[in-house]
Amino acid sequence: MSDCVFCKIVAGEIPSRKVFENDRILAFDDINPQAPTHVLLIPKKHVESLNDGASDPALLGEIVSRSAVIAGERGVPEFRLVTNTGREAGQLVFHLHFHLLGGRRMGWPPG
Ligand code: AMP
Ligand code: ZN
Repeated sequence: MSDCVFCKIVAGEIPSRKVFENDRILAFDDINPQAPTHVLLIPKKHVESLNDGASDPALLGEIVSRSAVIAGERGVPEFRLVTNTGREAGQLVFHLHFHLLGGRRMGWPPG
């Protein structure tokens, strides 16, 4: 998608601090971190939200699985993985992404 910020990151048109990359997924540091570790994991292909991503469970599984590997590498085995789905849930960027947050105590329920 030409006007999608995360597609531009995938294409290398917008810089990012890459954490992990393979043919299917990309992980990079969030530009506005909400915790000492705040990594975004995305599919490289443009998928708007989890409502669309549900059609590709293998891809979703790979992202979730990789998040735990990254958390371990970052030294935050206690972490939160969250994906905001839709505006009402707090989604601002409409390219599916999972937030990996760690390194501080998390509140519950989220606001
Ligand atoms: P959400 O509200 O779930 O859609 O989250 C969007 C996230 O994308 C926010 O945490 C932003 O800080 C992050 N973000 C937006 N633009 C960039 C960027 N260019 N590089 C890294 N993270 C970004
Ligand atoms: Zn996109």
